[in-house]
Amino acid sequence: MRIAISTLLLLASVTSIPAMAETCEVEIAGNDKIEYSKSEIRVSASCDKVRLTLKHTGKLPVEQMGHNWTLAKTDGWRDLAQAGVQAGLENDYLPKGDGRIITHTDMIGGGESTSITFDLSQLKKGGDYTYFCSFPGHWAMMNGKFIIE
Ligand code: ZN
Repeated sequence: MRIAISTLLLLASVTSIPAMAETCEVEIAGNDKIEYSKSEIRVSASCDKVRLTLKHTGKLPVEQMGHNWTLAKTDGWRDLAQAGVQAGLENDYLPKGDGRIITHTDMIGGGESTSITFDLSQLKKGGDYTYFCSFPGHWAMMNGKFIIE
């Protein structure tokens, strides 16, 4: 009888736990030809967090061919990318503390990889978001749509 009751209690406590926070994994690569491996990234709105991994599959050093992954609203992202040029490599070519930056990875060179985890709750399903590499001159070729569906 005691076993039966404790089993029931266990079942009750398991079913009352709210849905587990889900972290969705996303990967993208950059190469020495100033290209991302994806022109869009789709994530489900059911993801609580997104863990994004950027891999640099090239060989060139960060000073020459640095890549990062910066997320911003599509509205105004080019202005943000241009403003980043003056910020220098020490700031990942992003204006410090700029509110237009939703999140970004470190700037990496060939053979390296880097990850970030961010809350998806700060973004809107169906919102218009763009990701890009903020290294000077890269954003025109290295950009894509971040889609929450
Ligand atoms: Zn780049």
